[in-house]
Amino acid sequence: MRQLIEHAAVFNGTENHLTSDSAIIIQDDKVVEITDREVPADEFDVVLDARGYTIIPGLVDSHIHFSQTAPVATLATYRWDEYVLRSARYAEEILMRGFTTCRDAGGVTVGLKNCIDNGMLKGPRIFPSNAAIVQTCGHDHSGYYSDLSMDRQDTNKSNLYGFMAKADGPDEVLKAARQQLFLGASQIKIMAGGGMATFFDPLFTVQFTLEEMKAAVQAASDFGTYVMAHLYIPASISRALDAGVRSFEHATLMDEDNARRIRDTGSWICVCPQWGAGREVKRSKPFPTLLGTPVRRQKPEISYMVRGLYHQVELINKYDLNFVFGTDPFREECVQDEPRDKQLRDFRRYKEFFGSYRGLKAATGNAYELSKLTTFLNP
Ligand SMILES: [Zn+2]
Repeated sequence: MRQLIEHAAVFNGTENHLTSDSAIIIQDDKVVEITDREVPADEFDVVLDARGYTIIPGLVDSHIHFSQTAPVATLATYRWDEYVLRSARYAEEILMRGFTTCRDAGGVTVGLKNCIDNGMLKGPRIFPSNAAIVQTCGHDHSGYYSDLSMDRQDTNKSNLYGFMAKADGPDEVLKAARQQLFLGASQIKIMAGGGMATFFDPLFTVQFTLEEMKAAVQAASDFGTYVMAHLYIPASISRALDAGVRSFEHATLMDEDNARRIRDTGSWICVCPQWGAGREVKRSKPFPTLLGTPVRRQKPEISYMVRGLYHQVELINKYDLNFVFGTDPFREECVQDEPRDKQLRDFRRYKEFFGSYRGLKAATGNAYELSKLTTFLNP
């Protein structure tokens, strides 16, 4: 089937430019040409007049967790199949917001991806990481799911359901990475530093040794793909750069030296506005769990992270770094209350940070460039 969209204003995803009167030629499900020349309409099965409209490529969210959408307060009581069913609704909502591709940054997603790809469910194209690989006492969200007994850690829901894969030492990391590839991951996700929403790991921790990170990178690169790493602080970023990690998730507290090295290696930053977009984390009480109250480690104030975000934006602009858009939704924000608002509100901040065109490119053309790192695993 041949379709023509005519008289459209078009942003093509790569140029800082909006055309005023373009024609888009679509063959079956593929855009084959965008042109300013006159195109005879009688050669097409469908003709749409887009006068007065602006057309952009489908948006890409490069940091999503499809299978982890239960509200924290009820998380410990959720069944495995409830997580899975919720991810189906979440995927459709994301698509209808205009995001036609998503990179999943850790969770059980391959079944959802298969159902979308074969037309059973509505949702975006997915780049799955499968389980995020995490060290013991790392950014593993254990506190959501289990009590404090160390011998129960391997049976907590996070590991049992395959949201996380715990690995210590290069051999275990190598094996965990290969297992995710076997299970359908198009890239590998590791947790390389502390986080804000977890119980056991202070933000300022570095996680995984250099040898462990290198093991993940080796497994990924031998399989034609790359490692994306959750991290915030300069020490984690430096070590991950040494190991060959190519996509830096958050990296909110990065410094000048990190910025220069990210530029020189052509690596990527996935900027998730999160708290800088006005999100709040209620910190007065530990999150409830089924079996007990978890350890709360000290976390910095949100205002500290917001200052970090503004500094990060300065560095990205100063060094003209490669960056993509990511939401990294908190669980509460995914499938309740005002789900539409969160992802789009985060994205709106990009106009202020980077300007309209560079902001839009972060969720279109830039994400396309990043996807090339998956070579023959590219979905
Ligand atoms: Zn995340």
